[in-house]
Amino acid sequence: MPADWQRGPRYGGPYTFARVPTSRDLSNVDVAVVGVPMDMAVRYRSGARMGPRGIRDASGQLWPHDLAPGELREPFASLRVVDYGDIEVVPGYIEPSYEIIQSEVSRIVEAGVFPLVLGGDHSITLPLLRACARKYGAMSLLHFDAHPDFWPLRGGYHHHGTVFRVAVDEGIIDPAASVQVGIRGSISATIVDAAREAGFHVVTADDFARQGVEKTLEAVRQLCTKPLYVSLDIDCVDPAFAPGTGTPEVAGLTSREIVDLVRGLPGLPFAGFDIVEVAPPYDSAEITALLAANLALEFLLVLAAGRRKRP
Ligand code: MN
Ligand code: MN
Repeated sequence: MPADWQRGPRYGGPYTFARVPTSRDLSNVDVAVVGVPMDMAVRYRSGARMGPRGIRDASGQLWPHDLAPGELREPFASLRVVDYGDIEVVPGYIEPSYEIIQSEVSRIVEAGVFPLVLGGDHSITLPLLRACARKYGAMSLLHFDAHPDFWPLRGGYHHHGTVFRVAVDEGIIDPAASVQVGIRGSISATIVDAAREAGFHVVTADDFARQGVEKTLEAVRQLCTKPLYVSLDIDCVDPAFAPGTGTPEVAGLTSREIVDLVRGLPGLPFAGFDIVEVAPPYDSAEITALLAANLALEFLLVLAAGRRKRP
C-alpha cells in the first residue's frame, strides 16, 4: 500500500510514484511503475530525461482514493503496485539503452507483472513494445500523440519519431488493429497519410474536435481487439494544459478530454502502458507533470476496474 496518508506529510520521505513502496522483487506484484530517464533520441528540445522525476514529484498529491464519477475508487485496494525505480540507461547511447530497457521490462512482463512506464522521450516505446510482443505477439496500439511517429529511419538511425514505423516493420504492432488520436501540426502533415496507408485508424485533433470522446472510444473498442499497448505522448494535450514537453503543438486535447478518454478504457485487453515526453524544464507550475501523474493514476483505476478487493 502507499504510505499512510494520515501519518506524516505527503511531501516528505523518499519520492516514489503515489508514495507506493519501492521494490524490484516482483513476487506478489500486479503493477510495476518503471521510470526510463532517457531523451537522447529527440529531434528538438531535450528535457524528457527528467520526466520520471517530475512525474513522481507531482504524484505526491495522488491519494490512495479518488472520486469519479460520483463513486469512491481505490486503485490500491485491488492492485498491488510497486515503484520499480528507474532503468539504468546509458546517457548518449540509444541502442545500448534499448537493449537494457528491453531486457529489464521483459523480466517484468515475463513475471506476469504489468509495466506502467514513465518516460523519457518517445523512442523508449520501441524496446517496451519489443518486450511485450515477446509475450503477446503482434499487438494493438492505442497511441495518443500530436505526431504519428511514423517517420522512416534516416541513415538507419532511430529517433523519437520513428518508433511506430519500426514497430510495424518488425510486425510487433498490427496497424489495422490500432488507433492514433490527437494528430496535428505542420510536422505531422508530411507523414499522416503514410500512417493511414499502413492501416492505422487516425483520429486527428480536428477529427476529435468534431466527433468527441464517445465516438473515439467506440473506434478504439471496435479496432483494438489484440493485446493492447497504450502509449500516451503528453503532447497530444494542448500546450495550454501541458506546456512541459519537447515538441508542443497548438490546438490539442484538453486535460479534461484526455482524462475522459483514459477513463473510457476499462475492459480492454491491456499489455502495457507508457506516458512519455514530459519535459519538466519547460513546465509551468508543474501542470504537465501533475497531469501525467493523474493520467497514470487514471490508468491504474482502469486496470483496477472490475477487480476484487485484495485481502
Ligand atoms: Mn510521440
Ligand atoms: Mn508527439
